[in-house]
Amino acid sequence: MRKPIIAGNWKMNKTPAEAAQLVTELAPLVADASCDVVVCTPAVNFAAVAEAIKGTNIKLGAQNMHWKESGAYTGELSAAMLKACGVEYVVLGHSERRQYFGETDATVNLRTVAAVKAGLTPIVCVGEKKEEREAGYTNALVVYQTLIALTGLTAEEVAKKVVIAYEPVWAIGTGLTATDEQANETIGVIREGIRSVYGDAADEVRIQYGGSMNPKNAKGLMAQPEIDGGLIGGASLKAEDFSKVVGFDK
Ligand code: PEP
Repeated sequence: MRKPIIAGNWKMNKTPAEAAQLVTELAPLVADASCDVVVCTPAVNFAAVAEAIKGTNIKLGAQNMHWKESGAYTGELSAAMLKACGVEYVVLGHSERRQYFGETDATVNLRTVAAVKAGLTPIVCVGEKKEEREAGYTNALVVYQTLIALTGLTAEEVAKKVVIAYEPVWAIGTGLTATDEQANETIGVIREGIRSVYGDAADEVRIQYGGSMNPKNAKGLMAQPEIDGGLIGGASLKAEDFSKVVGFDK
């Protein structure tokens, strides 16, 4: 019922020429995908990637955006700027933004609402740190993060215009992955949290898993009923690896 979405988060990697080469290699490998395929590239690469993905099924994504339309916010980008470059998706609240750049649940919410109102699809990242899982807070925390991020959206918007990425912080870039069952269970908890406020929208909203997902573990994760795709960091930087993950779309 829910169309999976597999998105690559390139983080701070690739120049425009390298980015164009990567998507040019990727395009034929994912041409038959039955899921949505997105590459979230640094903003300097938007033009090169937008040109290279013309006529393909690959969509362009950004890695962050500001919630204001314009103004004195040095270094920031608005939703309108992203849209003008052909961006359709934007990663928001990534744990690296939260950890290194002071991103909070409140600002993730402002960004999420601004993205949806502007017609972009936010990929909203939530997830617990290792010590939070060990202390037994995972379920409460991920539901809290999710509901704060979505505050101000209608059930219709939550159902159709938002993607959630469940990314346990301890699994990002570490080579550690949540087990298939852990990821499925926590995503199920997030879905029930969404149901408590937005009712049946919970059945439609897509919730990805992210955290060291790669061609070896993607099959098991993607087979889980609650998991609607992946947000892929390291393994999205090589066309062949990313295309293999995409190959496990349901
Ligand atoms: C990410 O950056 O969202 C991510 C999941 O990274 P990695 O796949 O490298 O763990």
